[in-house]
Amino acid sequence: MALIHFLVASILSVTAVTSLPLLNATVLPQNQTALTVGSAVPFGAVIDRCSVPGTVALTFDDGPYMFTPALLDILSANSAPCTFFVNGGGLGGIYNYQDVIQRIWREGHQLGSHTWGHSNLAGMSYEAVVSQMTDLEQAFVQIIGGFPVYMRPPYLGVDGVVLQAMTDLGYHIIHASIDTKDYENDSPDLIWKSLEKFRAELNAGGTIILAHDVHQMTVVSLVQGMLDEIRERGLRPVTIGDCLGDPRDEWYRASRW
Ligand SMILES: [Zn+2]
Repeated sequence: MALIHFLVASILSVTAVTSLPLLNATVLPQNQTALTVGSAVPFGAVIDRCSVPGTVALTFDDGPYMFTPALLDILSANSAPCTFFVNGGGLGGIYNYQDVIQRIWREGHQLGSHTWGHSNLAGMSYEAVVSQMTDLEQAFVQIIGGFPVYMRPPYLGVDGVVLQAMTDLGYHIIHASIDTKDYENDSPDLIWKSLEKFRAELNAGGTIILAHDVHQMTVVSLVQGMLDEIRERGLRPVTIGDCLGDPRDEWYRASRW
């Protein structure tokens, strides 16, 4: 697994400084047919739970932002790989945080798409949904030399058009089975409510955890509390790809064309 990750990292590092169309078609999948070969995870279907026993997946939406580096320090200190569903034109703007995106990726976390602009995709035209995905793909290609095949819809908004677009584009759609609602509790007096909600939904069998790295209390308080609870229960915090048993070389693709 580590070797595969290293190889993918090497490939994507090379493509970051060279022209993507020059990438050998046999190295990374160039089209959806090839992409689906090694992945047992369905495309265009909503997934809200891990399939690998004993794992849970912490996920952080809406970044990158000013608190993301501090979160990465905490995750590193806890040896806890996580998944970041990032925006393009979000709070921080992805081009202003290219070093943070590269650090997320370099430190063994997983990057996913949260669309370019964080609009609710449900109700949008097919063309608009595709643009929300492909605009961010172009930013990812510039920053890490490839783009993710995992996405989380903003507001978990999905309709038939969205499902079709994600099927056509080749995206795994990730919802959550534990919703911390950390955005409602972003103060020192309230954040315990999110930790309690996390515990209750963990008790109920939830495994994919939704939080946001754009909120300070999530980073300085909630994350360590959740990681401590995960360890105490003998669970293993992993990325979305690992919690679904998807090989790491299936998490990104180099080019759509
Ligand atoms: Zn969001």
